[in-house]
Amino acid sequence: MSKKLVFGHKSPDTDTICSAIVMAEMQKAKGEDVEAVRLGELNKETKYALEYLKVETPRLLEKVEEGQEVILVDHNEFQQSVDGIEAAKIITVVDHHRINNFATAEPLYYHAEPLGCTATILYKLCQIENIEVTPKMAGLMVSAIVSDTLLFKSPTCTNTDKEVATKLAEIAGLNIEEYGLNMLKAGTDLDDFTAEELISLDAKEVSKNDVKVVIAQVNTVSIEDVFKRQKELEEAINTKIEKDNIQLFVLAVTDILNSNSELLVLGNRSDVVEKQGKLENNRLFMPGVVSRKKQILPMIDKNLD
Ligand code: MG
Ligand code: MG
Ligand code: MG
Repeated sequence: MSKKLVFGHKSPDTDTICSAIVMAEMQKAKGEDVEAVRLGELNKETKYALEYLKVETPRLLEKVEEGQEVILVDHNEFQQSVDGIEAAKIITVVDHHRINNFATAEPLYYHAEPLGCTATILYKLCQIENIEVTPKMAGLMVSAIVSDTLLFKSPTCTNTDKEVATKLAEIAGLNIEEYGLNMLKAGTDLDDFTAEELISLDAKEVSKNDVKVVIAQVNTVSIEDVFKRQKELEEAINTKIEKDNIQLFVLAVTDILNSNSELLVLGNRSDVVEKQGKLENNRLFMPGVVSRKKQILPMIDKNLD
């Protein structure tokens, strides 16, 4: 049997990548042969973190063979996972998302908690299983928590995330505010991405009642700056809508400094978002909204009923 593979979701974010690497380290500490891999290109925020921490980028995985043993982190929904996942053998899941479109043929370990970040759950597992948290692992987990909670400002952030991040920053020798803001800012440098890349950097697909929805998100320090490219972004989104038969595409442009988002909404079911507020020029400003999981997705989900 080939070695076990651990990976997070497609359009990888910092939690997905860092948690996969940490989970592989945890398994190795227990004597298991596990390799962390990734399902897509790294964003600039994650690149910043890995370079700063001097950690190697995991290998790209296109698909898994039938029967391959896999560990999933930071996701469970099959449409967000690797191609071939239906025929793989999922042995463990560590995740902080809703459980949906997920089924296995055999029993498995499933660690789910409604915390702000997968890495926070991994830290708790290290404590339970008596696995030493090295400075490298701590740095990776801090990066993941900062990313998923937008430096503790997201409504997804819990006290546990904050407490764990504070402990981890100490182990890693990082100033969390300074390192965290630099890391988040590195992810807002969007200039050299094409419109096509921008709309797929951090995109999640969900379906309900036969409506296929994609919610993409980009972080910025200036919403207006991103919307200077509105026309180009709309062209890319409309091409994607045609190609993948998507009924609703939402691009959330999130201001990480002021904690607001402006949505760019296209597709023949944009009425779903209009129930929330009238679109102007395909746009809807949402004050205080930064979380896809806790704010944008539930709003869409409710309006799809
Ligand atoms: Mg994620
Ligand atoms: Mg996550
Ligand atoms: Mg995210």
